[in-house]
Amino acid sequence: MVFNIALLKGDGIGPEIVDSAVKVLDAVGEKYGHKFNFTPYDIGGVAIDKHGIPLPQETVEGCLASDSVLLGAVGGPKWDTLPGNMRPEKALLGIRAAMNLFTNLRPAKLYPALKGECPLRDDIVENGFDIMIVRELTGGIYFGERGMREGKYGEEAYDTESYSRMEIERIVRVAFATARKRRKKLTSIDKANVLETSRLWRKIVHEISAEYPDVECSDMLVDNAAMQLVRNPAQFDVIVTSNMFGDILSDEASQITGSIGMLPSASLCESTRGLYEPIHGSAPDITGQNKANPIATILSAAMMLLYSFNLAEESEAIVSAVDKVLEAGYRTADLAHGAPALSTEEITNQIIEFI
Ligand code: NAD
Repeated sequence: MVFNIALLKGDGIGPEIVDSAVKVLDAVGEKYGHKFNFTPYDIGGVAIDKHGIPLPQETVEGCLASDSVLLGAVGGPKWDTLPGNMRPEKALLGIRAAMNLFTNLRPAKLYPALKGECPLRDDIVENGFDIMIVRELTGGIYFGERGMREGKYGEEAYDTESYSRMEIERIVRVAFATARKRRKKLTSIDKANVLETSRLWRKIVHEISAEYPDVECSDMLVDNAAMQLVRNPAQFDVIVTSNMFGDILSDEASQITGSIGMLPSASLCESTRGLYEPIHGSAPDITGQNKANPIATILSAAMMLLYSFNLAEESEAIVSAVDKVLEAGYRTADLAHGAPALSTEEITNQIIEFI
């Protein structure tokens, strides 16, 4: 099969890690008889330098015309003093909105070989954990009405959260379908003891759960969830939650894996097109040194194969090659703690060897 992928390499280590993922995809293509065509577009700081804006129209059109999008990272000190709407990071919100990416999938998995990286107690990580957070990405309080006004005590600011049935139904369905492909356990996280939006959220989760009798579904209040994630992360399989709760909980979940260079993400819309990117930033402190860990981006490419192209076996080939590389003791500098480490290129080649 032939797939057209838009590449948004971005800034800092972005080009290095995206190039690694491209090499891995080419290796997968060769092994399984697929052709991946890559077209690069500018985004972030590099787009500001070349076009005067962080998200050129050509980039948006290129992404919308592609089968899927692979992003590195944007931003860096060079552009830090620009006004808010001209900053590289603004392009991320722009491309998510342009592609209508209402679902954010963020796996947080503890690799057995990397247990030592986890900041939690040994007895907690003994069982490992493998969590998929399904976060609603285009609704809720981040998109609600906001403003300033004169209140009873003078100057006052407000933000509002609203969720429509349609917005909740579509994300909850994605979550159930995701759970069905995994360990069939879904935890819906809300604040239904206080928030009206959460009460509607919970009601809809219960309604839809009838369509997925094979998936065990439960509710959890967000304050409890924040605690349970560090107390017993192994209890979770798939988590579904609103935009703001997901923002906070997915960062918490990623941090308990202890390895920022390992975590991929996927943002999805109604069609199969998605945007796949590592969760880390552009790491200006190690840019151009061939030191960056490319695994988060390589695993993002694996998510693309699964979620956009429905190539489960090919996706698993990448995931299992990464597992084997770690089991064999290969590490990039971020995970080596001063011991000899492989470069970005060397670890990429090792992963390709295992594919
Ligand atoms: P960062 O994630 O870039 O870096 C934090 C630390 O982790 C650094 O020490 C870095 O060297 C290390 N690190 C990150 N990714 C790594 C990798 N793959 N391999 C090895 N080490 C890695 O976060 P930051 O320093 O807060 O931000 C740097 C820039 O990135 C800023 O301009 C920020 O706005 C931007 N940023 C972009 C995104 C994105 O593009 N999605 C996300 C977060 C931050």
